[in-house]
Amino acid sequence: MPEHTHGPLRLQFVGAAGVVTGSQTLLQTGKYNILIDCGLFQGTKKERKLNRVNRLPYKPSELDAIILTHGHLDHSGYLPVLVKKGYTGPIYATAPTRDITEIILCDSAKIQEADTRDYNQYRDPTKRPLKPLYREKHVNMTMKLFKAHEDDEWVSIADDLKFRFQKSGHILGSATVELECQGRRFVFSGDVGQRDPLILDPPARIKEADYIIMESTYGDKLHNNDTSPYQALQDVVNKTFEKGGSLVIPSFAVERAQEIIMLLNNLMDEKSIPKLPIYFDSPMGIGITKLFQEHNNWHNMTDSETNKLTDNVHIIESFEETLTVLDDNGPKSKIIIAGSGMATGGRVLHYLKEMLYDAKNTVLLVGHQSKGTRGYQLLHNAEAIGIEGKNYRVNAEICQIGSLSAHGDQADLLWWLGRFKENPKQIFLNHGEGDAAHKLKDKIEEKYSWPVTVAELNKVYGL
Ligand SMILES: [Zn+2]
Repeated sequence: MPEHTHGPLRLQFVGAAGVVTGSQTLLQTGKYNILIDCGLFQGTKKERKLNRVNRLPYKPSELDAIILTHGHLDHSGYLPVLVKKGYTGPIYATAPTRDITEIILCDSAKIQEADTRDYNQYRDPTKRPLKPLYREKHVNMTMKLFKAHEDDEWVSIADDLKFRFQKSGHILGSATVELECQGRRFVFSGDVGQRDPLILDPPARIKEADYIIMESTYGDKLHNNDTSPYQALQDVVNKTFEKGGSLVIPSFAVERAQEIIMLLNNLMDEKSIPKLPIYFDSPMGIGITKLFQEHNNWHNMTDSETNKLTDNVHIIESFEETLTVLDDNGPKSKIIIAGSGMATGGRVLHYLKEMLYDAKNTVLLVGHQSKGTRGYQLLHNAEAIGIEGKNYRVNAEICQIGSLSAHGDQADLLWWLGRFKENPKQIFLNHGEGDAAHKLKDKIEEKYSWPVTVAELNKVYGL
């Protein structure tokens, strides 16, 4: 790339502004172009369309480095597009983030190839067929660029540009990025976990920042922490067992599923719930679970708890195995954990189709359920839900555990900010829907009197 002189610092939110997906923040120093996260837009159709628009305000070949806060698709899923378009520089991440990203990107490439195949079948044959955003070969090219680093280790990108990862308590390997450039310090929060995560260390204390770029997913909400997830899960399992039914838990394959399995194993060990078979039905499940066993310095589960994630659970990878579980109409109660977490797609739909009609069964929703999703409809007493063009009556009991969330709530975010030693010059809020970011802005201004800007998509902020 051409030699530049130092110029004014510029910050641009290429994604996750006004919405919670498509995270991508560009920092331009006049000399260097650094990208923090590179996620896919998910969510609504309008949002997903942004993945297809040629709208990047930079040339991928002119980026000097990409730094990844964690492996979730909405933070990593756009990387292969940049590599396809000519990015060849380093992608910095923690080791678990690198490994989670690999599993998530391979899955994403498969889904995109299948989706475009389906789409092209019904497309006007005179028009050019749609191509997937990327294929598995682009994922392989992407993975070669990764450079893994520990947390708390300063990494020098150039002589006047360095960064380090600090644990953020969100998912395995997730980190906040502290970046120092031209004597100024930037803190990119990434996704911030709760103050007291179940199986991770709490978010690390960051002390100094000139500029803080912070997520605001739950900026306007407080989790319901009245009952511990232990107690809540115990009650749900026992109630379902007494009715002679089975329990279906729609869940994300990363983190949430492993948390639930650990809680269930512990409850069974202490005989607080009966020993029921647990099925974890997720094509990605086994790979992600093995990462918890490999990177045991990144979570707080004991070795025995970590081993039981696989030893005590039937892990289902192929759809043939799913059919076997569905065909098993024996009288025995079972626990099924399957994606996706809001029942928008994935294997869990097959279980819902079979099990929703029976009042003996329970569907347990964990974490946030976005408006418009089947999870949201179930939670709001829908009499029936549509799956693949058919309506299915809901007689099963529907419950929710709100406290199992990978994101901190408003109080957690304010606590995270409250531990900075010096006043920051400016806070930018991203990764939140309109109301969430604006309500958090009001709270921060009221509590700390620090200047807060709610990030706008694609707007360039001179610093
Ligand atoms: Zn995340």
